[in-house]
Amino acid sequence: MFSGLVYCADCGARMHYNAKGNRREDQAFFECGTYHKRRNHCSAHYIREAALRQIVLKHIQAVTGCILFHEDHFRRVMHEQQKARSQEEIRSLKKRLERAEKQIAELKRLFMKIYEDNAAGRLNDERYEMLSTACETEQRQLEAEVIRIREAIARQEQQAESLEQFIRRIKDRAMEIDHLDGTILHELIERIEVGAPDKSSGRRVQHIHIRYAGIGFIPIHELTERETA
Ligand SMILES: [Zn+2]
Repeated sequence: MFSGLVYCADCGARMHYNAKGNRREDQAFFECGTYHKRRNHCSAHYIREAALRQIVLKHIQAVTGCILFHEDHFRRVMHEQQKARSQEEIRSLKKRLERAEKQIAELKRLFMKIYEDNAAGRLNDERYEMLSTACETEQRQLEAEVIRIREAIARQEQQAESLEQFIRRIKDRAMEIDHLDGTILHELIERIEVGAPDKSSGRRVQHIHIRYAGIGFIPIHELTERETA
């Protein structure tokens, strides 16, 4: 049910799911994929599937409650968070776009120059072929890059739309969320990162970071604190 969603927070590897043999279903667990292959390259990040399911379910329920009872508040907090991150992201994307477009213009000038040199006999055909092929290849790569950057900018600019979509999805699903299944999980969540357990306080503390589809991290503590304040 968590297939493809759970990652190690430290090395970024997908967590390995262990449910084989005669192990009872409630004993199924995840461990870091890197650790599973080579013990000394990361730590286990062990978490039982049942425990993870509880944590994720509780988080989704908290988000759902927040949306059902304090929709405007939720929208405002998430919007602020998105705006701050998005403006920074858009600025850096636009810089990359400008750079790629400048490089394309330079390549076109270079191409004109070698074309003229060849026509005037200053550059032999063999050299001309080689240089023009190199120019074309680079230009194609840059143009593909420009398309990717433009799409990324459009995605950033559609974030308000993604937020509305997410709110609608939660409201539609609110009744079914009690019996969390794979479909709902994949519809709502993009990625779950499991931290290493920390026992320094005397009890086992493990951080689970949930990224929701289209909107990312939801600061649920901050949301509920501000509600009660
Ligand atoms: Zn790891």
